[in-house]
Amino acid sequence: MSEDNPILDDIGSEIYALAAKIFPICRSITGDGVRQTLRELGAHIDLDIHEVATGTQVLDWTVPREWNIRDAWIKNARGDKVVDFKQSNLHVMSYSVPVHQSLTLAQLKKHIHTLPDQPDLIPYRTSYYVENWAFCMPHRKFEALCDETYEICIDSSLTNGHLTYGEYFHKGETEAEFLLSAHICHPSLANDNCSGVALLTHLAKRMLGRKTRYSYRFVFAPGTIGAITWLARNEARTHQIKHGLVVSMVGDNGGPTFKMSRRGDTEIDRAMVQSLAHSGLSPTIEEFSPYGYDERQYCSPGFNLPVAMLSRSKFGAVPEYHTSADNLDFIQAGALAESYRLIGDTIDTIEGNGTFLNTHPRGEPQLGRRGLYRAIGGDKDAVVANMAMLWILNQSDGTNSLLDIAERANLPFSIIRRTAQRLSDHGLLKPV
Ligand code: ZN
Repeated sequence: MSEDNPILDDIGSEIYALAAKIFPICRSITGDGVRQTLRELGAHIDLDIHEVATGTQVLDWTVPREWNIRDAWIKNARGDKVVDFKQSNLHVMSYSVPVHQSLTLAQLKKHIHTLPDQPDLIPYRTSYYVENWAFCMPHRKFEALCDETYEICIDSSLTNGHLTYGEYFHKGETEAEFLLSAHICHPSLANDNCSGVALLTHLAKRMLGRKTRYSYRFVFAPGTIGAITWLARNEARTHQIKHGLVVSMVGDNGGPTFKMSRRGDTEIDRAMVQSLAHSGLSPTIEEFSPYGYDERQYCSPGFNLPVAMLSRSKFGAVPEYHTSADNLDFIQAGALAESYRLIGDTIDTIEGNGTFLNTHPRGEPQLGRRGLYRAIGGDKDAVVANMAMLWILNQSDGTNSLLDIAERANLPFSIIRRTAQRLSDHGLLKPV
C-alpha cells in the first residue's frame, strides 16, 4: 500500500493494541468467545457475522455443538484453588464437558496435561470431536500436588447452537477476488493467532476508500471447521478467487516463513516471493505441504485455490508455540508492522501487475532525447532506474508481465511499476 495509501508509522502499534484487546477472550471453534472477538473487530470494520446451526452438513463434516465456559477450578482439601480458569483460560482443555466432583490425586492426574520439558508453561489442548474433559497446568505445580482429595469443577456447556464466523468485503473494479483468511479459534495465544486477526482487521480498515482492481474478501473463521464451513457455503463463488493468503503467527521476530500454494506458480506465490526477496529480511520459502493452517482446506484438490500462507516463525517450530509463553511479550509492534508491509507490498504487486508493448521495438528508443536517461556518475539510484527502463523496453513484447520483468531483472516490483508508468507517460509503452 506504499504509493497511494502510505503506511502509518504506528501501524504496528495499532495492530498490537487490537491483538492485546482480544487476547484475554476465551475462544474456541464455537461459542461466545468467537462472537465477542468479532464484536471487537466490528469496532474497526463493517463485519458481516454468519451463524451456522449445529448439525449443518458442511462438505464431509458436520457443524458441532456450541461450547461455552463460565468458570473452572481445582480445589485442594483446604478449599484453596490450585488451578483457576480465571487466571488463564489455557487451564481448561477446549471443549471440555461440564464436570463437578471429588477425586483422588491418582484419578485427577489422568485428566491433567503438562509439559515436562517446559515445566513453568501451561500447554494449550483441545478435544473438539471426542467428548472429554481435562485441565492443563505447569508441570512444576503438578508435581507439587499433595496426595489428597480434590474438588474439581468445569462450568461449561455443550449444546445445540451455532458456529460463528465473520467476513468483510471490499468491492473493487472487478469481481475477481483476493481472499485473506485468519483463524479465530484459539484462546489466549497472542501470536497464534491474535496477531493475524488483528493485522487483517487493520488491513481491511485501510482498504476503505482505496480504489482497487480486485475485490478483497476477509474471512475470520475457526480453524479447519470454519474454513470448511465457509467453503461449503461459498462453493459456487470460489472460481472468482484469483489470489489468496492465510495469515497466522505474524507478530514474532522470527522468519518470515512463506508457504506456497498447492499450485506453487500462481501470481500470489510469485508476488509474495518477490516482496520477500526485496524485504531486507531473511525469509524461508517452502513448497506446499498438506499440514498447517486453513490453506489445507483452500488447497484441497476439489478447490485447489491459489492460496498461500504467511507467518513469521514456522508453526510448531518455536518453544512458545501452543503454550502460555505465546503471550503479549512474544509479539512486537515492529514485527507486526513488517508483516503488514510484506502483505501490503504483495497487494501492490498484484494490483499493479500488467503487460505492455514497447511502441519503438526496433533498436532502443533514444532515451536521452526524451530526458529519460539519467546521468550516472556514481548515482546508484540512477543505475537502477536506467536498468529498469532497459529491462522493461527489452521485455515488453506483449508476452511478459511487469512481474515477469521484475523477476528477470531482479529488481523490486515497485521500481519496475513506477518506471513503466514513466515510459507510458512518454508514449514508449502501451498496455496490451
Ligand atoms: Zn494453533
